[in-house]
Amino acid sequence: MRTYLDGESFPYRGAPLRLKASPGGGRAAAEVSGDGLFLLVSASSAEERKKSILFFYTARTEEFIRSTLPIWTKKLGVRPVCAGVKYAKTRWGSCSSAGKLFFNSRMSMLSGDVAEYIVVHELCHLKQMNHSNAFWDNVRAALPGCMALRRRLRAEEKEAGL
Ligand SMILES: [Zn+2]
Repeated sequence: MRTYLDGESFPYRGAPLRLKASPGGGRAAAEVSGDGLFLLVSASSAEERKKSILFFYTARTEEFIRSTLPIWTKKLGVRPVCAGVKYAKTRWGSCSSAGKLFFNSRMSMLSGDVAEYIVVHELCHLKQMNHSNAFWDNVRAALPGCMALRRRLRAEEKEAGL
């Protein structure tokens, strides 16, 4: 259970940041400090600090998806109907039968290569809407290290609290 108090650890791109809170309006997104060790939040209440941190993760995830998705849609020769980022409690990504992709807004908590695995996994569902051998063959062809990345995802999501 998170407290959103000074010193609490928040993962960002697979490495922990320590929360450093200062009183403030609570409307701005949290920021990473110049030395990359702290997550700086300017907000007075725990609720505002939580919002500010989620806003930070969402913005970083949107940037990641914007830069990563075009590379992989091209490589895999697939075209999602749309791709969005939204808050989800228990899933990193989803692909609907209509071809709509969603990625968890907290995906920026994860290492870049682990997050990339999630992108490839969901894009491969545009070819196979299941977890059959054919599906995993596609994922493995795109990312030969996918099984190791999957294990790291399970470890990193414990840190992320998902
Ligand atoms: Zn899947």
